[in-house]
Amino acid sequence: MKFLHTLARIRPFAAPYRWSLAGGVVAFGISRVLEAMVPLCMAMGIDRLAAGNHDITLPVVGIFLAVTCRYVVVTFARYSVRRVGQYVAYDLRRALYESLQRQGIRFFNRHTIGDMMTRAVADIGLIQRFIAMGTILFVILIYATLVGFSFMLYLSPELTVLLIPPLPFVFLYAQRSARAMGATSEAVQERLSDLGTHVQENLSGIRTIQAMAQEENEVRRFSATNQAYADAFYDQARVNSLMTAWMPTLAAICTITILGYGGHLVMTGRMQVGSFVAFFFYVNMIVQPFRVAGFIVNLFQRAGVAVQRLQEVLDLKPEIPDLAADQPLPAIRGDIRLEHLRFRYADNRPWVLDDVSLHVRTGETIAIMGKVGSGKTTLLRQLARLTDPPPGTVFIDNHDIRDFPLAKLRAEVTLVPQDPFLFGESLRDNLTYDDPTRAVDAIWGAAHAADLADTIRAFPDGLGTLVGERGVTLSGGQKQRATLARGLIRQSPVLILDDCFSSVDTETEEHILESLTRLRGGMTTLLVSHRVSTARHADRIVVLDEGRIAEVGTHAELMRAGGWYAELERIQREGADADDYSSLVAS
Ligand code: ADP
Repeated sequence: MKFLHTLARIRPFAAPYRWSLAGGVVAFGISRVLEAMVPLCMAMGIDRLAAGNHDITLPVVGIFLAVTCRYVVVTFARYSVRRVGQYVAYDLRRALYESLQRQGIRFFNRHTIGDMMTRAVADIGLIQRFIAMGTILFVILIYATLVGFSFMLYLSPELTVLLIPPLPFVFLYAQRSARAMGATSEAVQERLSDLGTHVQENLSGIRTIQAMAQEENEVRRFSATNQAYADAFYDQARVNSLMTAWMPTLAAICTITILGYGGHLVMTGRMQVGSFVAFFFYVNMIVQPFRVAGFIVNLFQRAGVAVQRLQEVLDLKPEIPDLAADQPLPAIRGDIRLEHLRFRYADNRPWVLDDVSLHVRTGETIAIMGKVGSGKTTLLRQLARLTDPPPGTVFIDNHDIRDFPLAKLRAEVTLVPQDPFLFGESLRDNLTYDDPTRAVDAIWGAAHAADLADTIRAFPDGLGTLVGERGVTLSGGQKQRATLARGLIRQSPVLILDDCFSSVDTETEEHILESLTRLRGGMTTLLVSHRVSTARHADRIVVLDEGRIAEVGTHAELMRAGGWYAELERIQREGADADDYSSLVAS
């Protein structure tokens, strides 16, 4: 019984609402009994008329009362059950969202955004439908059979017994069609997920697609995904139509039995004509569940898959464990020590950082340089624990970085990432993202330091300028300066800038660096840059090569050493040809 398995999976999510659900289920039972009263009253009316009695007040009042009460009870039942469906869906969406907020780089390497969107929308939607509709249908199935049979037995045990033999066939048939429909609908679900992922990825890359004039190709590629979904859907529709169309045919066997044998009972005076007519209604009642059985099993199956897909994410332990030390740690001053730090992104991948040891004193400015892929970004990520360094390798103020609560660490160690991301809101909202109560002076202070103030003034809407999704309405340099301002505004004891000036011209960069020196005197700053003109202002320069520290020292020291740094300086000073330069920085 696979669907019982599904039920067990959903139980923990529905448990808090069990009383609402139970109320709905009981109400459905009552409504079925009320519904079954109608043919009974009708039979009573027919029998009275057949016997020449024209007083049918009692059956009429009976029918009226039954349908009115049923209306009230069913409304209550549906509302309770649907509400529980939404409660559970709400809780699940929240849990999934919370879990996603805590996942790290390894998780997002493995899962696409489109897939997560499908889980958050389609899978949770399925579970909601399962609770709201699945419960209703399941309850219909049980009650209709019980109530229908009870009334039939009451009216004519003989005819009821005769109707039993065809039912197993109906049941077997329903089961078979359920299985066939289950397989096709699983395919539909998967193709739908592909469709979502495809559209999501396409729209994220729309600029690249247009820049490379790949629209036609993309439309063609999409046609394949679109077609696959359509084919899966036709398949499902075909199986569904075939299976459901047969059901009335099978139900007709019951009708023929009643007509033949029931008619005979009436003729021989062993059954009243009213009961005979009522029998048709009850048979309809017990066949109805078989009609929806396929649909129910299908709903159970799909909800089962959906719960499993959600649990995969919900059960994940956060990649970066937030294990705060027993005693509260003092505010961070900014002394950073790396000791034989080794790191790789997965067990089967090469080491990205290999035996890195470095001591950055409070207030120092360190420039990190090196070829593309030498591990600069990875090194910086360790310092905000965006990836998790092994225990005993990274220390801040002589405390293992893993002992700081994550929220505290990231409030005091600000990392401005390489890829400038802005939220699709106003510039003001972006600059005060972590604390919307920041004073206007602070916003302008940071904007000045990041050389963004004039840009903001030039916009007609100033700080209220909307930047579009991911900041698309700004230039690359403007985006970089806005993300820099968002980092600077926090005035945190440790500031980490990951190649934040790549789209900014040298003059502006010099400007920003001057402001940085002024603003951040006495505070620790680490920055990645490709320009010697930037790095030379730092107290020390660290050169990474394939995850190891190759050179470290002041500008003068490294120049004397005559290594990679000195070579880079020569090339950039002489403005040597591009080939020369790129061979030095490319990995
Ligand atoms: P740099 O900043 O010096 O260009 P990175 O730290 O970005 O270097 O990358 C160093 C190495 O780590 C590269 O080989 C890169 O492929 C790998 N790497 C970077 N980010 C990830 C990631 N999210 N998952 C797996 N490997 C990664």
